[in-house]
Amino acid sequence: MRPELKALFPDTVIIIMILEKYTIGVGDRFAHQAEAQLEACVKLAERGIDVIPIWNKSNREHSFIGSHPQSVFDAAQVAVEAVGWQLGWHVDADHINMDTVDKYLSCSDFFTIDVADFIGQEPLDDAVATFMQKHPELIGSVSIEGIDLPFDISREYVIEVAGKYLAAVAEAGTIYRYIESKKDDFIAEVSMDETDTPQTPPELLIILAALADEGVRIQTIAPKFTGRFNKGVDYVGDLEQFEKEFNDDLAVIAHAISAYGLPDNLKLSVHSGSDKFSIYPIIGNAIRRTGSGVHVKTAGTTWLEELIGLAEAGGEGLQLAKDIYAKALENVDAMCEPYASVIDIDSAKLPTANEVSGWSGDQYANALRHVQEHPEFNQHFRQLLHIAFKIAAKEGTRYTDLLKAHADIVGKNVTENLYDRHFKRIFIA
Ligand SMILES: [Zn+2]
Repeated sequence: MRPELKALFPDTVIIIMILEKYTIGVGDRFAHQAEAQLEACVKLAERGIDVIPIWNKSNREHSFIGSHPQSVFDAAQVAVEAVGWQLGWHVDADHINMDTVDKYLSCSDFFTIDVADFIGQEPLDDAVATFMQKHPELIGSVSIEGIDLPFDISREYVIEVAGKYLAAVAEAGTIYRYIESKKDDFIAEVSMDETDTPQTPPELLIILAALADEGVRIQTIAPKFTGRFNKGVDYVGDLEQFEKEFNDDLAVIAHAISAYGLPDNLKLSVHSGSDKFSIYPIIGNAIRRTGSGVHVKTAGTTWLEELIGLAEAGGEGLQLAKDIYAKALENVDAMCEPYASVIDIDSAKLPTANEVSGWSGDQYANALRHVQEHPEFNQHFRQLLHIAFKIAAKEGTRYTDLLKAHADIVGKNVTENLYDRHFKRIFIA
């Protein structure tokens, strides 16, 4: 609560804004597809499944594109009105920290508090000792409903995990309280996904206990899961292991809600969630079996649907799609370097610019569209274009005017991608 309100109503307990059970992170780099994305939610709602859109765009993306946070809210609001969407919607200040949060305060009601950089930093003097004193229940054999074998946790292990994460938790508290001092109501997510090592379920339990101590009323948490969540392509990893970890995480969250009084709608958030087709049925089965909610962040690949639509439109649209590929290929090494840990491109499998220049719109669309079983699909081509959005941004109005001119065919691809390839696999049994 803002300090001036707190002074007037010192005893008031604010009921926090409640995040809906099933939510989907949507958005697009150029802020043209909000309505097409919302149409996918409408189609699912017509089948009786409510999935609430949360438009997100990270600070990083805004700086690449040169856009401002308010534009995300504005585009979402226009879409909500145009479609007549009656359910909830939110705007996510995605991956913010103390340096970047301010410009999101007026236009976001969902804050992804990113503390990954603080993992492994030294906590304050007696933070670990205080935590150990407060949490004897974390040591020994810890039984959690829904997990077959109890966790066998040693004192040394809790000290190690607390030492690794308490600085990050403290930072989450600092940012959370800062937002709280500026806004009457908001939804908080804590993200720890942009780091090298995944958090195991016992680690998640310790982190949740610490976040509860810190007073952070999180409604979603984004751990780093096992396996690779590469940009724009399917999950790479051991599906059985992912399934066990995801189910154990759900059980840990349910346990932490009752043990530590965290918000009872607390749920998992899956980042880099677009196109992770092989884990969608696992996620879907787990949430239907347990009654848990989930938040899945997609968004990044929406721009590829724009390229597919422009290619299908032919003419200048197809030409621009080809030009963007040619420019991306020219600078392939420099383009890939910042994304090394989240892409896997085999340059030998990339078509030459000359080959692509001879393609029809359908050939271009088939190579790019994420239909893995299609004989013309090329995941190397797809990944390179995924990170090539800055080239489109440089094209300026040449790009955005074509998006406007071909809004129908582009929008159709955006809606289909979200509904057929994402929603059906996650939310429909
Ligand atoms: Zn993320």
